[in-house]
Amino acid sequence: MTALTARCHCGATRLRLAHAPETLTACNCSFCFKRGTLWAYYPAGDVLVLEDAHTVGYSRDPALRVHYHCGVCGCGTHSALACTWTEHGPDFSAPCIAVNARLLDDVALTEALPVNAVDGRSGW
Ligand SMILES: [Zn+2]
Repeated sequence: MTALTARCHCGATRLRLAHAPETLTACNCSFCFKRGTLWAYYPAGDVLVLEDAHTVGYSRDPALRVHYHCGVCGCGTHSALACTWTEHGPDFSAPCIAVNARLLDDVALTEALPVNAVDGRSGW
């Protein structure tokens, strides 16, 4: 599979993804809904941060998740999550990175991927 690049609007934050996502996630939790992200989830080792000198983290609960955005242009870029969600609940042995797929350089790919709606407002 071919690696992809995601970058914020100004380019100060750049991520390299090991491969294209197969699906995207639209979450309606209080944070994701306001940010308007489409998430692509990856094992933490599959995302390489290439540039982040201006990246700012935000979290209400840093032990579980930190959301990052570019401090220059303000784009939400990615979130570091302490676990991966499975059908049985959170798996804390597998931290993951949620990348804002709206930042992928390949806009056509983002627009073509199926989007799963997740009811984050009712849960985590
Ligand atoms: Zn930026």
